[in-house]
Amino acid sequence: MAKKQFKAESKRLLDIMINSIYTHKEIFLRELISNASDALDKRHYFLLTDKKKKYSRDDLYIRITADKKNRTLTITDTGIGMDKKELEENLGTIAKSGTLAFKLENKIKDSNDIIGQFGVGFYSAFMVASKVVVISKKNETDKAYKWESSGIDGYVISEVKKANIGTDIILTIKENEKEEKYDDFLEEYHLRWLIKKYSDFIKHPIIMKTTKSRPKKDNKDEFEEYQEDETINSMIPIWRKKKKELKEEDYENFYLEQKFGYDKPLKVIHTSAEGVVSYDVLLYIPTELPFDFFTKDFQKGLKLYVNNVLITEKCAELLPDYFGFVRGLVDSPDVSLNISREMLQHDRQLQFIAKRINDKIKKELSEMLKNEREKYETFFKNFGRVIKYGVYTDWGVNKEFLQDLIMFYSSREKKLVTLDEYVSRMKKKQKYIYYATGEDVDMIDKLPQTEFAKEKDYEILYLTDEIDEFAVKMLSQYQDKEFKSVSSSELEESKKTTADKQTKEIFAFMKEVLKDKIKDIRASERLRSYPVCIINEGAVSIEMEKVLKMMPNAQDVKTDKILEINTEHEIFNTIKKAFKNDKEKLKTITKILYNQSLLIEGLSVDDPVGFSNDIYSLIKQ
Ligand code: ADP
Repeated sequence: MAKKQFKAESKRLLDIMINSIYTHKEIFLRELISNASDALDKRHYFLLTDKKKKYSRDDLYIRITADKKNRTLTITDTGIGMDKKELEENLGTIAKSGTLAFKLENKIKDSNDIIGQFGVGFYSAFMVASKVVVISKKNETDKAYKWESSGIDGYVISEVKKANIGTDIILTIKENEKEEKYDDFLEEYHLRWLIKKYSDFIKHPIIMKTTKSRPKKDNKDEFEEYQEDETINSMIPIWRKKKKELKEEDYENFYLEQKFGYDKPLKVIHTSAEGVVSYDVLLYIPTELPFDFFTKDFQKGLKLYVNNVLITEKCAELLPDYFGFVRGLVDSPDVSLNISREMLQHDRQLQFIAKRINDKIKKELSEMLKNEREKYETFFKNFGRVIKYGVYTDWGVNKEFLQDLIMFYSSREKKLVTLDEYVSRMKKKQKYIYYATGEDVDMIDKLPQTEFAKEKDYEILYLTDEIDEFAVKMLSQYQDKEFKSVSSSELEESKKTTADKQTKEIFAFMKEVLKDKIKDIRASERLRSYPVCIINEGAVSIEMEKVLKMMPNAQDVKTDKILEINTEHEIFNTIKKAFKNDKEKLKTITKILYNQSLLIEGLSVDDPVGFSNDIYSLIKQ
């Protein structure tokens, strides 16, 4: 029989498959099973529409048979089958796969990823088989044909006998190699595992003869092994079931089974849509943040199925980073794997679904915030930081989308509040949304800078997370109200204090003592009971400076620090006296006051020993 040549494009793809160093060769089984499942769907459709034909669902199945002796693995289906012309056209020339081949060649470096992510189809069989035989029969009355190929140099089609409609794909499995144990693809346990892993939710039964054991008839104490047909896949995917058929427990079991997490999910989102793009979605918001979430090992993404067939474990495109902790899956018949229709189209469908998922997650979270406050607070304690990063990153493009999901601790409510709640409670005359930053709530509570706002009975948001101030700066305002730090150099309204001539001289002297450590010394407008505090001028606050200094490639950021002195405090009388009588003493006092203002801010003093000595010298007097 004359050998026929593969079309050029197909040849290229075949070449890539045969020489593939891809480590997940096992996906060939997924590909062949989904082809078989498609063929069964088509046959099912014909049977349904042809009233004359009697049929039973039992006639539609996939069978996997491993023959270790002959090193063959056979995938049989009772699907639509192929006639001679179709064998030729479908397996000899594959236009769409040709496009894939082109892409693979041009991106040869990451071709392995592409193999893993997309349906590479029938030719993937050549990753594990040295020879592939396809025997197919389309109609009862048709002849059956055999297509066979050992790779690149072509294929042969011949007539054969076959009893039933459908297709057998017979793979001669390659001999073991150093890096690849092909023998595994003939092992019952391994095949079962692969079917479970990739094709569990195929809606036709995948049958395999499996080894069982039973007590012997003549001696009940001894066991014998026997073989029995078993349907390996569970067939109905949980996400295709109706919500009301499912219990919370079912969702939780599935969460564990899929290894989405080891905790109990905080929220399950199960929804589907029909329309331009149809899809089923099952999402979980975990209770705990994955331990590796903030490391570079973490990969976000949802499982992507197309018609019950797993395409990729983690489709990152389906989730924005700020919802990267969400786990789950998407199943859509409309995500095209037909790459010849261009990747773009494929992408557009995904983008559409991703957008819907994004909106859905936000909607569910907003509802939780409204109706299940406590649960939302649990959520926010664990994931709030991720959302706040979302506000800050990408130059704030998502800040408006996310701003109503964030919360801060309130000086008045003594708990987390939303920005909307804050603004709705603002005093008539209050112009700004005030915030204070620090390591924790207790520390901020005692900050001298908060005195002014507290006196006015203005609510203050406490920013205790490193990211907080960055997020707030990115927001810059909420409902037309500007955010303002209590340490900011310009406050809305304050006690106007103009320093007299003598005070100016004193400040000049003190500034000389502190030199470059500070930019300026001023009479404070915000202090009440405290003598001094430090504030900053400019975009980078003192808290932000602390964070930036901890970053891996920390740049030398320095805020412009200003020492504020409460000229109505009794300590200022001491300062005045010292200025007149004892300049040395004023030097010491100045250094101590400066260092104390640093300590109150949670900053460290430059010279702890010098600082202690200054204190001793004052005590001695
Ligand atoms: P794809 O399935 O993505 O179209 P493949 O290379 O896997 O690409 O298969 C090419 C074509 O061969 C299929 O579209 C289908 O028409 C046909 N085919 C493959 N396997 C079978 C099968 N088991 N039964 C019937 N037709 C099949």
